[in-house]
Amino acid sequence: MTAAIEIAAADLAACAARACAAYPDEACALLEGVRDRAVVRVARVHFADNVASDRRQRFEVDPRALLRLHRTLRDGDTAIVGLWHSHPNGKAAPSATDFSQAYDPDLAWIITAVTESGAGEARAFRLGADAFAEISLRAPS
Ligand SMILES: [Zn+2]
Repeated sequence: MTAAIEIAAADLAACAARACAAYPDEACALLEGVRDRAVVRVARVHFADNVASDRRQRFEVDPRALLRLHRTLRDGDTAIVGLWHSHPNGKAAPSATDFSQAYDPDLAWIITAVTESGAGEARAFRLGADAFAEISLRAPS
């Protein structure tokens, strides 16, 4: 069970910048990396278009980007290990919508809160049976 996610400060900063650029829409990305027992290590952030019809309330990663990345990573050492998205004018916590569309308990989620004045905190979660559970978000040591 995933207990922590490690992501470089520069990658997290890139997420914050993307969240601001997309505001007031939600921004999203696929997280490429490796899983090492209970720790997910992010190697690269792949920003993708949010193709949801209501981008201010939800996100849907462009399926073409998802397919492309799956194909690229197919024979490699890394995989898609998580999802990042932003919450414009919301909390850095999963919404009911997020829970309803989450399907893969192996994916770690990072959510960055963002307002008109800039990006706020980022927090990480994993999907449990009845709800999301917060996991540790940290920089690689
Ligand atoms: Zn959300």
